[in-house]
Amino acid sequence: MKNYDALALFSGGLDSILAVKVVQKQGLDVLGLHFVSPFFGHPDKVAHWQELYSIPVKIVDVAEEYLRILQEGPKFGWGKVLNPCVDCKIFMLKKAKELLSHYGAKFIISGEVLGQRPMSQRRDALYLIRREADVKDVLLRPLCAKHLDPTPMEESGLVERDKLLGISGRGRKEQLRLAREFGLREIPTPAGGCLLTDKESAKRYLPLLQRVKGAEASDFYLANVGRQYWAGNYWLSIGRDKNDNQQLLRLAKDSDYIFKLKDFPGPIALGRSAGKRESGEEERQGEDWPEEVILSAASLVCGFSPKARRSKRKVVVEIRKDKEKRAVLVLPEDGSSMDWQEPRWEKG
Ligand code: SF4
Repeated sequence: MKNYDALALFSGGLDSILAVKVVQKQGLDVLGLHFVSPFFGHPDKVAHWQELYSIPVKIVDVAEEYLRILQEGPKFGWGKVLNPCVDCKIFMLKKAKELLSHYGAKFIISGEVLGQRPMSQRRDALYLIRREADVKDVLLRPLCAKHLDPTPMEESGLVERDKLLGISGRGRKEQLRLAREFGLREIPTPAGGCLLTDKESAKRYLPLLQRVKGAEASDFYLANVGRQYWAGNYWLSIGRDKNDNQQLLRLAKDSDYIFKLKDFPGPIALGRSAGKRESGEEERQGEDWPEEVILSAASLVCGFSPKARRSKRKVVVEIRKDKEKRAVLVLPEDGSSMDWQEPRWEKG
């Protein structure tokens, strides 16, 4: 396996690209680590980035480990939405440190800019993150290094401090100038890309965090897809378009319910049991739904087919679970007995 001088936290954002470029320019070999979870990461873009920016990138799936921060609650608090940025940075740096010896690398690069983000890039936060991640001796922040104390990498001459930068603040002017200087053919837009900072996405995770003990990464990936409905412990995801429908089929487990209209065009829906019963007794994932819940869910799914609604008659919905198929006859939106609710944003 090829050894590297440094491992970089590589989100694919402009700052992460520039941080690598600054160090590459000193003749050092850098491997980007692209962390992937239901909330961030674009593994589909990695090949493109490697080619475009001449940066080798390794995908690191951290989904299950990352969930613990959300499920246990972050030690250093939430940001404006469901983003635990300080804990998140600490987590990523710890992961990178674990991988150093694997790649024969001596230090870690992070593209933080002093004062760019209120929560995680204030001076005190930068020092706190470095201390909590236990990376004091191995962390280099090339974009704002000149605002910080020299690191062992600079003191030993492994990295030339004079060639590091002193960027600070929220503007992007200096980064855009650098991007031109490095001849970057594509400049990523500043949009965060982390779903935990977006209320519309984050509200989908709340039922899983508030009601479901031990929800898994696969549950959070499912929460990202389609329209979401919950009735107690019963969870229904309904596709909004072809792409959603394909994703639902891809994410389905044998124990899930798959709903599909037989004679009309309409969405695919995936039903999953999750959470606890009202009595507090643990509900097994994959447990059979009572018939009234199945009929109510089928009726709700039909309601999203305009042609089925206009037919004003009962329609056939095919249902698959545990590789067995059956069909039920329901009226679209027939005033179901269940109170299916879309998650609302109410962080508490
Ligand atoms: S925005 Fe998301 S990925 Fe970025 S530090 Fe915050 S929680 Fe982590």
